[in-house]
Amino acid sequence: MDTLPITKYPSSILAQKSEEILDITPSITSLAPQMVDAMRAHDGIGLAGPQVDVRKRIIIVLEDKTPYVFLNPKILKQYGGKIPEEEGCLSLPGLYVPVTRYENVEVECQTLEGKTVRITASDLLARIFQHEIDHLNGTLIIDRIGFWKRFKIRKELDKLNTT
Ligand code: ZN
Repeated sequence: MDTLPITKYPSSILAQKSEEILDITPSITSLAPQMVDAMRAHDGIGLAGPQVDVRKRIIIVLEDKTPYVFLNPKILKQYGGKIPEEEGCLSLPGLYVPVTRYENVEVECQTLEGKTVRITASDLLARIFQHEIDHLNGTLIIDRIGFWKRFKIRKELDKLNTT
């Protein structure tokens, strides 16, 4: 099977809120490994449903080179410092902007087997969770930067708009 294409900015699905997954249907269980493949094919460290045109609350996060699939992730707590760091996104190829994120998050999600798990993540993993959960809420890294920064990168955004 061909690798799923990555949905790019300014596709409208990237600005929409994704739906809760109430039933773990065969289409969800078969989507998960396809999302992992698509993420790997683009050297990503995370991927969310809308990035493969699926408006459902499913994310992949990479930790220690192992991809994990989570459904309906919810941030229960975010704490520690708020740290700015350059971030990229497979839906905004070539663009890197400093995004401020919490150092630690506690997340509740479901596994593909329907088990509810709680995860405490720090540093990069915490950043990936926040980035991917943002996708499920229709928020991109360019929505997380200030007006002036966005103004400065407008030419790069215009370029993405036409490709
Ligand atoms: Zn992204």
